[in-house]
Amino acid sequence: MPSPDIAIPTRAPAEVSADDTILPFEVAALDLRGRVIRLGPAVDAILSDHGYPEPVAKLLGEAIVLGVMLGSSLKFEGRFILQTQTDGPVRMLVVDYMTPDKVRACARFEKDRVAEAIAAGKVGAPALLGRGHLAMTIDQGGDMSRYQGLVALEGGTLEDAAHEYFLRSEQIPTRVRLAVAEEFRGDGGPKHRWRAGGILLQFVPRAPERARVPDLHPGDAPEGTVPHVMPEDDAWVEGRSLIATVEDVELIDPEVSSERLLYRLFHERGVRVFRNTEVRAQCSCSREGVETMLRRFSKDDRDHMVENGVISVTCEFCNATYVFQPADVADDKSE
Ligand SMILES: [Zn+2]
Repeated sequence: MPSPDIAIPTRAPAEVSADDTILPFEVAALDLRGRVIRLGPAVDAILSDHGYPEPVAKLLGEAIVLGVMLGSSLKFEGRFILQTQTDGPVRMLVVDYMTPDKVRACARFEKDRVAEAIAAGKVGAPALLGRGHLAMTIDQGGDMSRYQGLVALEGGTLEDAAHEYFLRSEQIPTRVRLAVAEEFRGDGGPKHRWRAGGILLQFVPRAPERARVPDLHPGDAPEGTVPHVMPEDDAWVEGRSLIATVEDVELIDPEVSSERLLYRLFHERGVRVFRNTEVRAQCSCSREGVETMLRRFSKDDRDHMVENGVISVTCEFCNATYVFQPADVADDKSE
């Protein structure tokens, strides 16, 4: 049955990249589905506004792509929050995706340790993140439950953590590629701007007996039990081999559109793209929201926040500052 979401297929893939878009696709012949994320102005706005050291910005850019990728895959309305908490120089990354199209993000890091890492040339994700975990939370507001997926970060990359999450929690064979880079320009405009992109590929066979993933270890099986090793499905081997050929530049180059990339990868099998959706950088903080939050604190906690006669709160995502008179945010009980 035709789905209303299916765009009219184009015969030739679009030449020009559409920035700040999410393009879902399907390779029916291989039971593969996925999405391509392409971020230009949205990721540049977030990373440029924060002015983080370059390796921190790059790492946050990867997290933004992953957050948009996973948040936009979920069939719900609300907020998807991806957050790392680790012992490396970059202690925390937060990406907050709000359906249908808003994203905001920030990082917490130790300035001295980041400077040391840069001086030592150890600026990859494993060195900057260290060890800890990656948490994923869905907040549908009101009384709706918050679901948290948790995966260990053990000195790997965000891509590694995503693979681990899908293997253990969702049991869906999955490959994720993330790329971030600064584009340098000599046309008199801003000296550089950030670009980012990514691709998600999943094996979702229609026949349930093909959907099983290999056992990870025998668990509580009696000693001497040989783990049941399941060969990978040929379709999935083909899909993940193709994804392995994607280079970073293909995910961020404005000259390579999402459609062109998919065509290059899957033209022999036939790839169908669905209607793309847009994403933009926008904070969701408000004076009203901050006021509500302040009212939830105890009077004692609020008293400690008063400086020069006022309580001022700065949003960590967008640096907006909200200033209140203590009496304006006193709760009913304390009055
Ligand atoms: Zn804000």
